[in-house]
Amino acid sequence: MTAPLLSFEEASVLVAERASRLASRSPARERVSLAHAAGRVLAHPLCADSDQPPFTRSTRDGFACRAAEASTHAFLALAGSVRAGDAPTPPLASGSACEIMTGAPVPDGADAVAMLEHVEVAQVKLGGRVRLLPPRTLAPGENLVARGAQAHAGDELLPAGTPITAAQIALAASCGHASLDVFVRPRVAILTTGDELVPVDAEPGPGQIRNSNAPMLAVLVAAAGGEPWVLPTAADNAAALDRALAKASEADLLLISGGVSAGKFDLVEPALARLGAQFHFTGVRIQPGKPLVFGELPARTTSADQNEHGTKCFGLPGNPVSSAVTFLLFAAPVLAALAGSRAPSPRFALAQLAESTSRSARPGLTRFLPAWCTFASVDGALPSVAQVPWHGSGDLAAFARSNCFLVIPDYVSNFEEGAIVRILLS
Ligand code: AMP
Ligand code: MG
Repeated sequence: MTAPLLSFEEASVLVAERASRLASRSPARERVSLAHAAGRVLAHPLCADSDQPPFTRSTRDGFACRAAEASTHAFLALAGSVRAGDAPTPPLASGSACEIMTGAPVPDGADAVAMLEHVEVAQVKLGGRVRLLPPRTLAPGENLVARGAQAHAGDELLPAGTPITAAQIALAASCGHASLDVFVRPRVAILTTGDELVPVDAEPGPGQIRNSNAPMLAVLVAAAGGEPWVLPTAADNAAALDRALAKASEADLLLISGGVSAGKFDLVEPALARLGAQFHFTGVRIQPGKPLVFGELPARTTSADQNEHGTKCFGLPGNPVSSAVTFLLFAAPVLAALAGSRAPSPRFALAQLAESTSRSARPGLTRFLPAWCTFASVDGALPSVAQVPWHGSGDLAAFARSNCFLVIPDYVSNFEEGAIVRILLS
């Protein structure tokens, strides 16, 4: 039953390897309207329905012309006007220019658009004339996007597995997709354990606390592409845990919070073992989050889909900040793989430390400290990050005042002000 205590890097590699095996399966699909597609994952490549853009389009208000003619600075005869939404005008005769607005189709024959600000317009009896002001010249292709420059009809614009956010929705809309095929979200059981827990709407009695992990994990699961399934809290006894786990193991991924430390009432690991779980690790040298269990239930033979892979399960430490950190580091990548998503997880970035960090009281652990990153970058400098003062992994207020975690590797005791550090994005 006992499995090794791994370093952060070892545990990350192991989880990434398990996740990539899961990613080779294709989840079930469903069709959703574009309005409900945000946060989902594309199940089919998104293809261009027509050339993009569908016609050669002006990117400026000005005059469509032949670049070579305009660059002589000779006056060109004004031949009509075209606005966004107009059908293309007849081909442009040589020696002429056509007034054009941003977004309007560039007439055949024209190969550039001279910007309004760069020309002189003269009115004469029989119509207007326009010339490019010297010494400016114009090159073919300036201030227009040629038909099909971004994509041709039928081209793959996005591969399956792309997470859908505003940009993908805009692209789908531009291609006429009112609905999209997306992967069915994996169902993620969230089982909190602990005799001390009461639901948010109950008044805690002496020694009791409110269950904050269930709503927190539900949000983390949804944000990582899963469908949260919050189960009633299980009491700290073997029978209650067995009953709850039997139900929870119907899910695609199982998250259990609490009961994984070495205490007398930390009964989750033995309960998982009774279900036949194999453990990949039962602890990682990180802080917070050291008591962390990652295992796999036996493959179910009833479902073809589950033949190869048993349900993955995580026993997350009960302390709220530990639960969040271990979810982001290890459960989120597995969930992304189950969701068919190609989104990288976990996400790290670099930042510059605003003030020195406290020395580690526990050398040999990779630390993830709640921190605030400005994300603003002045004069090309890295964003600035500072640790949020906290009182350990139960300090939800400090967590709620943070927007990332400062990573301190296990071989570093503390960082000095100005150091370039890694941050875990939450
Ligand atoms: P455990 O991992 O069960 O030993 O719990 C560690 C700490 O986290 C204890 O102080 C628990 O009371 C607390 N805790 C456990 N589960 C939750 C939860 N669902 N919500 C808030 N705190 C919790
Ligand atoms: Mg407990």
